[in-house]
Amino acid sequence: MSNHHCEYLVFRCMDFRIKGSVLGDLLDGAGIGEGNYDLVACAGSAKDLLGREEEKNFLLKQIALSRKLHQIKNVAVLYHDNCGAYGIADQEQEDEIQRNDLVKIKGIIAEQFPDLRFTAFIIKGVLLGDISLEKIF
Ligand SMILES: [Zn+2]
Repeated sequence: MSNHHCEYLVFRCMDFRIKGSVLGDLLDGAGIGEGNYDLVACAGSAKDLLGREEEKNFLLKQIALSRKLHQIKNVAVLYHDNCGAYGIADQEQEDEIQRNDLVKIKGIIAEQFPDLRFTAFIIKGVLLGDISLEKIF
């Protein structure tokens, strides 16, 4: 099992508008190549790390398992605009709240998994179908 590993765990939203092939190309452009990441797809991506205890624990368990089974070194959280899990019509307001939440999520993961690096992106242009990836940190 020692050669059975990958570098990243990626959290994405379940939203069907972000097609797997499109996301794959965006991640590839960000240096997260296909075949080099585990993938968790939930409503709101990793948003529930800020939610109720059982929801938070479910997501933390995915990170722990990915680290144990595949020896990941990085967690990448992908948010996106026009996200139903946020339900905020105003794009600027949604962006501000998502950025604040990503900072909190970064803190939670750093506390629980100090050995893992953290990176975050917001996928932009989902509403119009002109999708791009913005790196937050
Ligand atoms: Zn979403």
